[in-house]
Amino acid sequence: MSKLLIVGTVAFDAIETPFGKTDKILGGAATYIGLSASNFNVDSAIVSVVGEDFPQEYLDMLAARNIDISGIEVVKGGKTFFWSGKYHNDMNSRDTLATELNVLADFNPVVPENYKDAEIVMLGNLHPGVQMSVINQMTKKPKLIVLDTMNFWMDCAWDDLIEVIKKVDVITINDEEARQLSKEYSLVKAAQKIHEMGPKYVVIKKGEHGALIFNDGNIFFAPALPLEEVFDPTGAGDTFAGGFSGYLAQHKNISFESMKNAIIYGSNLASFCVEKFGTQRMETLTSEEITERLKQFKQLTQFEIEVN
Ligand code: AMP
Repeated sequence: MSKLLIVGTVAFDAIETPFGKTDKILGGAATYIGLSASNFNVDSAIVSVVGEDFPQEYLDMLAARNIDISGIEVVKGGKTFFWSGKYHNDMNSRDTLATELNVLADFNPVVPENYKDAEIVMLGNLHPGVQMSVINQMTKKPKLIVLDTMNFWMDCAWDDLIEVIKKVDVITINDEEARQLSKEYSLVKAAQKIHEMGPKYVVIKKGEHGALIFNDGNIFFAPALPLEEVFDPTGAGDTFAGGFSGYLAQHKNISFESMKNAIIYGSNLASFCVEKFGTQRMETLTSEEITERLKQFKQLTQFEIEVN
């Protein structure tokens, strides 16, 4: 089985949407990526850090999904990374109310010995210096390195971010972040500029408007499934990244054609994530539900048209 190494935050989130408000609940980029990737036939491990305040039951839940958690450091006396966000009525935009780095501020990641040869490395959202340290610990060149990031790191660690972007094959970011990174409004021009920074493949997520993948003049689009109920978009981007990297790890085919399917899988999994608050929906998701929804995706996008 292929190995998928996941790096990212494991966190407490407090979320407010037009449908309700939560106290501190389980969150974090690596948590969502790991839960999403656990739907594939791959061996996966998370490298992250939490404080002593982090409930053991959350770690047990990740381990029960067959995720190797030996790379999640628990800092004695430390406080877990905390993020709080509030969504506007359209749910496409949100304000970050708080980002408390806590134990993340001086985190030195340690890649478990048996994952230093992982085929796929999924660098989830956290400090680009930590992402770089993980790349440097790999003893065998990974087949694919995927990086996700956000505006927070563009604002506070720009130089480190540019350095790590040079080293990756795929970048997954949202439209707003692509514009900030490239200083281009057109997403086509933005993708071209980001290609020049390093990644061969550029994936731009557009929330409820789907996702685009760019490679060498080719563009492919995956829609987001129109849903009856959207409660909380938190983690949708990470769930997408987990589906994308999990699919590629399972199928062992790193081509543009394979990546088209990977973004469909990513969109499919993200469509579940938003149906409940936090990680709740991803914790109960079954393979039958995933297959059923894939059929809906096919129906939504397939058409026969003659082009002369
Ligand atoms: P998404 O909605 O996919 O952008 O991801 C939301 C998740 O990202 C939440 O669970 C947060 O804990 C986590 N998060 C928020 N801000 C940061 C940050 N600056 N670095 C890393 N993870 C973050």
